[in-house]
Amino acid sequence: MLLASTSMDDSAGMSSDVERSTRLNSTLGTLHNLKANISPNFAVLKRGSCLSSNAKMLGRNIFRSTSNVGSETLRRGSRSISSKKGAIDVHTHMYLPSYMNVLRKRTEIPRVINVQGQDRLVILPGEDKDITTATGRPIGREYWDIKAKIQYMDKHNIQKSIISLANPWLDFLTGDAAASVAQELNDELQGICEKSKGRIFGMATLPVRNPAAAVKEVQRLKSLSAIKGVILGTPGAGSGLDHANCRDMLLAIEASGLPIFLHPHYGVGVEHFTDSGHALFLALGFPMETTICVSRMITSGALDKMPELKILVAHAGAALPSLIGRLDSCVAHDIHIANRLQHAPTDYLKRMYFDAISYSTPAMEHLIKIVGDDRIMFGTDNPFFPPVGVSADKVCEHEWPSTTKVWNTLGDLNKKTQKKIVRDNAIRIFGL
Ligand code: URA
Ligand code: ZN
Repeated sequence: MLLASTSMDDSAGMSSDVERSTRLNSTLGTLHNLKANISPNFAVLKRGSCLSSNAKMLGRNIFRSTSNVGSETLRRGSRSISSKKGAIDVHTHMYLPSYMNVLRKRTEIPRVINVQGQDRLVILPGEDKDITTATGRPIGREYWDIKAKIQYMDKHNIQKSIISLANPWLDFLTGDAAASVAQELNDELQGICEKSKGRIFGMATLPVRNPAAAVKEVQRLKSLSAIKGVILGTPGAGSGLDHANCRDMLLAIEASGLPIFLHPHYGVGVEHFTDSGHALFLALGFPMETTICVSRMITSGALDKMPELKILVAHAGAALPSLIGRLDSCVAHDIHIANRLQHAPTDYLKRMYFDAISYSTPAMEHLIKIVGDDRIMFGTDNPFFPPVGVSADKVCEHEWPSTTKVWNTLGDLNKKTQKKIVRDNAIRIFGL
């Protein structure tokens, strides 16, 4: 099957869910007119809006600038790529129905709010404040319905998905509540996988704020045959994954052989992002958070205590592939840090795994140069980064340019490397 042809309109490929939510927000009227007055950059985020009256009113060249960005990106990595059997998606999320129920009962972020009759998911820090340009995002089927996931997979030539709960997992629950919700979620995911005829596998969620329960849950995962990994945020039990209070949990995961999928949620440098909606938060804050977490795991010496721990780093390794030479050098020049480590930072990075979500062919080529092509796996971040300018009820049947872009960025790689990234690495690493 021909997947990513140059004829596909990929101009919206770098767009984010915020655009869809701002577009739909504009139908919500009052709330966002209010925000427009508060935030000087609100207008810019309206690009791609199907309600072009906004743009006309603003009289700015916002549409042209969007398509320029898109076509520039298309010039690289736009050769077609095919996979008869389809890809294996290792970075794909859902808000499982029981998790949605938890969020509906909450009064603080993360929560579900109702704005003028429409449910919206508010998960990012500060997303409910007036300084933001988008109050959460509309919750369509693509967030919680497994049928929507399968429909999306069929449309984008994805044969199998390893689904993880989307952020912020159980970072906000402590004690027995955390333990019991984790069990419920993992059982629910196992059930979904069992009904999927081999198309869906899962990554477990752990009660990270209850470290003893997290260890027990890791041990219980042995009984859930479709669970192939564990998703973790960067704070662990609250002080970072490198903190001693995460050690037992990580050792248990290492012993289980399950890879951890390290994923951002909180952003770093958020004080700089007050007038940029979700754009800079997701583009810069997310990867810097991941970069810092992995760097701390390395420099603290935590990874020397668990040499077999498999770590899948979200978003193509975030900034680490670019900064790793500098990290090596800075560690080598700090004798206290260098002395407590068994290896140079590069060596730890080369033991890790990466998804292929960079939206850039040169970035993929660079990652391959640093870690080789045996450790990188296809990913999409679905249901985030939905198509722009598509009404909520059509999103599930529509092509997702952000996913097409992932395919496109692999198009210039040699066939052997493509095959490894699209399927073979995931089969080997996750034991599918
Ligand atoms: N936005 C999120 O909230 N999570 C993701 O994983 C990607 C985008
Ligand atoms: Zn993600």
